[in-house]
Amino acid sequence: ITVTDLVKETYKQIRETDDKVQAFLTLNEEDALANAKALDEQGIDADQFPMFGMPIGIKDNIVTKGLRTTCASQILSNLDDPLYDATVVTKLKDAKAINIGKLNMDEFAMGSSNENSSMQKTRNPWNTDYVPGGSSGGSAASVAAGQVPFALGSDTGGSVRQPASYCGVVGMKPTYGRVSRFGLVAFASSLDQIGPITKTVEDNARILEVIAGQDKMDSTSANLDVPKYTEALTNDVKGLKIGVPKEYFVEGVDEAVQDSIREALKVLEAQGAEWEEVSLPHSNYAVASYYMIASSEASANLARFDGVRYGKRSENANDMMEMFKMSRSEGFGDEVKRRIMLGTFALSSGYYDAYYKKAQQVRTLIKQDFEKIFEKYDVVIGPTAPTTAFKIGEKIDDPLTMYANDLMTIPVNLAGVPAISVPCGFHPSNKMPFGLQIIGKHFDESTVYRVAHTYE
Ligand code: GLN
Repeated sequence: ITVTDLVKETYKQIRETDDKVQAFLTLNEEDALANAKALDEQGIDADQFPMFGMPIGIKDNIVTKGLRTTCASQILSNLDDPLYDATVVTKLKDAKAINIGKLNMDEFAMGSSNENSSMQKTRNPWNTDYVPGGSSGGSAASVAAGQVPFALGSDTGGSVRQPASYCGVVGMKPTYGRVSRFGLVAFASSLDQIGPITKTVEDNARILEVIAGQDKMDSTSANLDVPKYTEALTNDVKGLKIGVPKEYFVEGVDEAVQDSIREALKVLEAQGAEWEEVSLPHSNYAVASYYMIASSEASANLARFDGVRYGKRSENANDMMEMFKMSRSEGFGDEVKRRIMLGTFALSSGYYDAYYKKAQQVRTLIKQDFEKIFEKYDVVIGPTAPTTAFKIGEKIDDPLTMYANDLMTIPVNLAGVPAISVPCGFHPSNKMPFGLQIIGKHFDESTVYRVAHTYE
């Protein structure tokens, strides 16, 4: 089979399924076919390139040169011709992957269901009445629907892992600093990481190997060698020590989900791993602290969308101030406005100490919770999300319930550690999939992958 055949087949599959799933915002068909043709005709050695001819979909907050990049926001809906590639995209091109197109998301990655996209509502391929999760819902749904074998998402508070859980696929949030954020449209810069979404752990490890590494364009990317993650998949977990936080098995976390995680622990135990109950005592404050910090950073990051430099400018303004105001009022959706207002308030003088500073102090405590556990344990295991996917429309009018959904993913971003979601089962009542979360030490993605692959 030629790369051209594979790419043609990919678009055929997308055409057959995307009316229902609605995962793609922009297709890159002409360019992808030209690239495929070049790979077929140049007679280059496929073994030299880790992703030779592999179709990949990219979340629409990752900048792609010459290919529309909107963050699913009206304010960027006319950004048709970006001037550069994100570092991860450059690296995928160098590895000879084929960019199939851009995937739907919650606007500016704010949300847990894809219902905050201003463009379209992506649906869960397992049952189209249900949300795919978010914010990387387009990426997870596309992989689950068999449209693309690989996708990139971004994870600020769970946005790779939670949709992976809801769609029954594998999603990894690497350690903060492992993957360059250059060209990722910033939501909360101290939390954001790009991560792969795939069907298998091995595929996932393969992409992370390609996209990870220090980048001079991102000063927060770490100066560390990137291990061969695919070589870590030995299935050997003998003597591995697993911590299981009691705070992740509480009321509000679905019983069937809890039971499956306990079953999964038995599977790992049978392979020689040992587990014990541990405590992350500050977990209860994670969601509140996250929404302060993430919204504060977002209010600063999104100040650049002013109708002047990028994206849409209001046509109804009479002077400059009105132009700023109206461009932002017309361009941003409700959830984005809510966060900008919350963040601006939390950072304003007189409130900074009470809200922002306090949230940062809580963040330190949460980080210390993990540090303490990792002195004794190799990984932490629990559910990825408290429930399976919910129905479209079910939670949209209740932002706080929506936020509570991130209970078990958010602490990981606050601490900066890596974590993966792997499929763990299907719920007996609604038949929807859900995931198991494996959290590792800073920069120890190898162990996370090893455990995930053993369980898978
Ligand atoms: N659901 C969370 C939020 O709305 C996480 C989003 C994300 O990780 N980008 O902020």
